[in-house]
Amino acid sequence: MFHIHCPYCGELREEQEFHPKGQAHIARPADPASCSDEEWGDYLFFRDNPRGIHHELWVHAAGCRKFFNITRHTVSYEILETYKMGEQPSFTAEHPRGNSTEAASRQAQVAQQAGVHV
Ligand SMILES: [Zn+2]
Repeated sequence: MFHIHCPYCGELREEQEFHPKGQAHIARPADPASCSDEEWGDYLFFRDNPRGIHHELWVHAAGCRKFFNITRHTVSYEILETYKMGEQPSFTAEHPRGNSTEAASRQAQVAQQAGVHV
């Protein structure tokens, strides 16, 4: 079992309270009628499957019932950060150690609640 930090509830909760919903940051085409079949198919069915940093959409189903994003490493399963809808990730494939002081703040918050010293 592991614990996940809900950015809305502000605390670590057991994983059973959460459900993954797939890749995060999938933008619906602004004008679907003008999409080609290939573009629409890509939007509906095709997702990234990286080895490394991945951004995922999760819902706190047995808690606040809000959607949020998780940045997770697909090899180690480490959760690097959680962040609210509309926010941008601090950890990306281009910046795997975080690209801002916000990244350090988010990671420290999660680690502090998990009882880990960074
Ligand atoms: Zn919550």
